Amino acid sequence: MSKNQKKLTLLGEEILPGQSKTLYLELARLPTATKLKIPVIVCRSKKPGPTVLFSAGIHGDEINGVEIVRQLIVRKLNKPDAGTIICIPVINIFGFVNQSREFPDGRDLNRVFPGSKKGSMAGRFAYYILKEILPVVDFAVDFHAGGAKRFNAAQIRIVPGDPQLLELAHVFAAPFILYSKNISGSFRTAAEKAKVPMLLFEGGMSLDINPQIVHCGVNGVIRLLNFWQMRKDKDVPIASEATILERSGWVRAKASGFCHDRGFLGKFVQKGTVLCEITDPFGKFVQAIKAPHHGYVINANLGSIVYEGDALYHLSIEKSAAVESQFYKNDGQE
Ligand SMILES: [Zn+2]
Repeated sequence: MSKNQKKLTLLGEEILPGQSKTLYLELARLPTATKLKIPVIVCRSKKPGPTVLFSAGIHGDEINGVEIVRQLIVRKLNKPDAGTIICIPVINIFGFVNQSREFPDGRDLNRVFPGSKKGSMAGRFAYYILKEILPVVDFAVDFHAGGAKRFNAAQIRIVPGDPQLLELAHVFAAPFILYSKNISGSFRTAAEKAKVPMLLFEGGMSLDINPQIVHCGVNGVIRLLNFWQMRKDKDVPIASEATILERSGWVRAKASGFCHDRGFLGKFVQKGTVLCEITDPFGKFVQAIKAPHHGYVINANLGSIVYEGDALYHLSIEKSAAVESQFYKNDGQE
């Protein structure tokens, strides 16, 4: 049941049934005294229903998600037939301007939740997002992309053992559902504590807008909104059932050099499949990086130059796979 069937107040403004408003989260100034305003776009139907949040750009360089939320707005998919849709296309406007993951104070906003009123700049943002926005939200989807050149196959990340999140992840129907524990200080962890079911979408890589990833994200939102009966679209996009991945780990570079990817992203590979070759620039060596066991390649590092030890491929670990654990340290960022 929605938390706000009647009265909805956000950032000090009341939004009446049938109203749409752009509000601004204003918390800080740049060193130039320029005020920073984070647009929060709210569309409320006359009919009661859930309040949902679609947020992106918590990492300023993860612009696939920003484009997904932008498309929701321009295609008017954020106009509900019932309930309320809140869109925040760019939470970390600082990072977006600088094309960087972090806040200008060097902090990662997705590691400082729940933040505090008098804390660091990033901490204050986290605090106000939790205090001002999350309490009215029934469901949320937060959009991310792989760090640097690490390209994520479209996936929904949820904690294991939560039937409601699993159901929603299946409705969203990205190709993969990855079980991953909540990271300390993340928005997802804060949402779980606030008992707001949140799906975390990962797709593509930073500073890149990938049409297939964006398409997957937008279609997932359409499916969710129709599932919640907040919209009644005639042509809800059909999707294949998502593949659940219970465990995963990273395959790392065994040498520094040029990385020549073999293009298995999103595919199932057998043990021993050559995922990429690492070469030096002088034609002296070629080293094949092989899959240590079978599984789905859910992230590929598409950087041309890699260092020894760099995470190259995020590979699912199937129940049937014999895994030599020394290959792995799971550091999948979100
Ligand atoms: Zn992210």
